[in-house]
Amino acid sequence: MNIQEIISKKRDKKELTKEDIHYFVTEYVAGNITDYQAAALVMAIYLNGMTKEETTNLTIEMANSGEILDLSEIGKTVVDKHSTGGVGDKITIVLTPIIASLGIPVAKMSGRGLGFTGGTVDKLESIPGYNTAISMDRFIASVKNIGISLIGQTANLAPADKKLYALRDSIACVENIPLISSSIMSKKIAAGADKIVLDVTVGSGAFMQTKEDAIKISKMMKDIGELAGRETVCILTNMDEPVGHAVGNILEIKETIECLKGNIPEDIKEIILTIGSYIIKLAGEGDNLEENRKRILENIENGKAYNKFLELIKNQDGDISYIENPDKFDKAKYIMPVYAEQSGYVEKLDARSIGEASVKLGAGRIKKEDGIDFAVGFYINKKIGDKVEAGDILAYVHANEEEKGKIAIEEVKKAYNIVKEEILPEKYILDII
Ligand code: URA
Repeated sequence: MNIQEIISKKRDKKELTKEDIHYFVTEYVAGNITDYQAAALVMAIYLNGMTKEETTNLTIEMANSGEILDLSEIGKTVVDKHSTGGVGDKITIVLTPIIASLGIPVAKMSGRGLGFTGGTVDKLESIPGYNTAISMDRFIASVKNIGISLIGQTANLAPADKKLYALRDSIACVENIPLISSSIMSKKIAAGADKIVLDVTVGSGAFMQTKEDAIKISKMMKDIGELAGRETVCILTNMDEPVGHAVGNILEIKETIECLKGNIPEDIKEIILTIGSYIIKLAGEGDNLEENRKRILENIENGKAYNKFLELIKNQDGDISYIENPDKFDKAKYIMPVYAEQSGYVEKLDARSIGEASVKLGAGRIKKEDGIDFAVGFYINKKIGDKVEAGDILAYVHANEEEKGKIAIEEVKKAYNIVKEEILPEKYILDII
């Protein structure tokens, strides 16, 4: 077998065997297949697709390319939650302390932001001291002792995905159903959870732009999960506009603190109640979804979720004085309002444009190696469906350079579309698969 044969098979729209895929993944990770050969194969997959069987084989090979975590020591069913990415998406950081406060273990590895989407690890690292790179032993011990740990991915978790993802990113092959499904599911399988809840984002600020594509990828990931013995539920959530009000690392941590104190924007509330109620169900802690929603609200109201958040931050070396007094966080030098130029209703607030503008401000990275500015971003005042008068503040730009702030103001204005006729607020949950 050689890589040229495998590339020509996929180029000619033929199906790859399990052996072909095993050969490609192991030899690529071992450095025996060059990036240009891998790029040719990835592009052929992008153009000609993969069957469900090929996608499943690719996922399993990628998961097996590194260590597979064993979380059995935790002694309870572990449910993982993962988002396919978005703008202002702080759902993991809001939801996981709530779940842990209900006695359900949370052992979660998250990613960094890339491109226009933000990443949970970056947001957590904006809390001074917070360590996202604790040892595996400390990770498991934390889950056993306090019920929760949130960390970044270990170097040896699905290394094939790390190499392939960077390659896909550099050759414009990210947005593809077999490649995204195998990338996400290989990491989820390797991360060791028994069950998986996926937040499949849909809209301008997501990889899946249409509900049809989101349904297709959800069915694919669910099937892969079941074949790997991991029950999987996909919740399709709206990503046409940013989630909540804050976009940018420190701003999103501040919004998380508010949510855990009970001041939750409607979209975040509906998303955490829906995803959370399924996590509780999959964990075997309650089949009644309505009842589960009530338990989530109860632990926000009684302060248990907020206290669990403090415990998590402290346990991972974070300085909780910032959580207790969010005014201590670094602030951007310029906080610049964006005014509405006409009256009406917000019909569009393009999440992708806001995500791209936040990267230009410095809140995200264009290349993996780029540093980020934790303090910059946006606070969105007016969301889809809101009534607006000319002169109202649509959003605030938080910038550390005045020039960049002025550019961002124009970009935010362009992201909005205000119309005369009344617009209904967005639906936050689009489907459950
Ligand atoms: N998230 C991932 O982990 N992989 C992808 O390919 C896309 C989103």
